Amino acid sequence: MRLSRYFLPILRETPKEAEIVSHRLMLRAGMIRQESAGIYAWLPLGLKVLNNITRIIREEQNRAGAVELLMPTIQSADLWRESGRYDAYGKEMLRINDRHDREMLFGPTNEEMVTEIFRAYVRSYKDLPLNLYHIQWKFRDEVRPRFGVMRSREFLMKDAYSFDLTAEGARHSYNKMFVAYLRTFARMGLTAIPMKAETGPIGGNLSHEFIILAETGESEVFCHKDFLSYAPPSANVDFDDAAALQGIVDSWTSRYAATSEMHDAEAFAAVPEDAKLSARGIEVGHIFYFGTKYSEPMKAVVNGPDGKEVVVQMGSYGIGPSRLVAAIIEAGHDEAGIVWPETVAPFHVGVADLKVGDAGTGKVCGELVQQLENAGLDVLHDDRDERPGAKFATLDLIGLPWQILVGPKGLAEGHVEVKRRKTGEREMLAPADAVARII
Ligand code: ATP
Ligand code: MG
Ligand code: MG
Ligand code: MG
Repeated sequence: MRLSRYFLPILRETPKEAEIVSHRLMLRAGMIRQESAGIYAWLPLGLKVLNNITRIIREEQNRAGAVELLMPTIQSADLWRESGRYDAYGKEMLRINDRHDREMLFGPTNEEMVTEIFRAYVRSYKDLPLNLYHIQWKFRDEVRPRFGVMRSREFLMKDAYSFDLTAEGARHSYNKMFVAYLRTFARMGLTAIPMKAETGPIGGNLSHEFIILAETGESEVFCHKDFLSYAPPSANVDFDDAAALQGIVDSWTSRYAATSEMHDAEAFAAVPEDAKLSARGIEVGHIFYFGTKYSEPMKAVVNGPDGKEVVVQMGSYGIGPSRLVAAIIEAGHDEAGIVWPETVAPFHVGVADLKVGDAGTGKVCGELVQQLENAGLDVLHDDRDERPGAKFATLDLIGLPWQILVGPKGLAEGHVEVKRRKTGEREMLAPADAVARII
């Protein structure tokens, strides 16, 4: 992609309205634009990151056996009356009347709708287990939208819903998502800690929030330091092996980790003093087993092996991809700007022509871009007629993992400069070696 033809509206000044670093950097790097309070347009650079995040989420959901569909954003109020949540949900729900004065709403979550779809088609226990997910925009009229896309009113959510015949089966489905989540966040370069979370009126002990530690996080959390060095489960995990999955979940839940709502000061006191972490965190995912909370009132039943009707056991599993963009920046930035992990970076490499108009630098940049693209990398070619200083600042700000700086002086000696954004390491290399260094 040639920067001169791209749309990257970089801001020179630090926006005053942004209180936290990820919000400031997303605005400055031209990733998002607020259109109304808590409602954002995703500009090209931001959208690329968001798409990389949803790609990783999809891959891990599919690996764990979940099946993707797409439900609408607008739902009917009647569906929510069936579960009793239409009145209970309160002001966070955006309610809409259509031209026939039918009551509709912009979905804040999809338990009711997915249960409606399930009950329309699934009749037999033989069709279970089933896990259906989608990645769709949600709307919650948050009292205090803030911190940019970290707490917005319109936001993207991956929400999955599992259906099982028995509580034991539901536990297996829960564990599949638990393990998939560990892998998902690790692939984005994040250390997400599963913490005991509130289960609400249904009770039971099966709910975990996945939390990224960050000073700007809105949750107060308490956990054991060991979590920071746990290795994520391997890609070869057999998701059908219930005992193996339970083993992984047990090892990830054997140490103390809880949000303030679930904090047990006595249990935390038993954690060795030098292993105690009390910190702030960002909720990036939340998984939940709720049994028959929706299937019972909405009559989602299947015929069991003995021919009798069984109300299905359900769970739901959310991740916030748009919040994750901000959380990844909170976890990876420095004075000069964003530092993307390779897996979610909007481009892998920035190639900067430091003297646009110079036949030599132009030719070498063209060749480098072509070779890198042929190797399957996404390349941003800074071919703007700008001072080198401005180009360095832009590349640092938008945080691409690699930079290749091509100037006439270096070229006279046969070299380009390769810079690693994360460490700041620089090397002078022949163009062919620069390509080999990165691919
Ligand atoms: P929070 O406690 O931050 O309000 P929540 O517990 O209400 O979040 P869930 O209903 O568990 O959120 O939704 C699943 C996921 O959706 C959350 O873990 C989070 O990643 C994301 N999410 C929820 N609300 C927002 C929001 N206002 N803006 C961005 N992402 C959100
Ligand atoms: Mg909330
Ligand atoms: Mg929460
Ligand atoms: Mg939650």
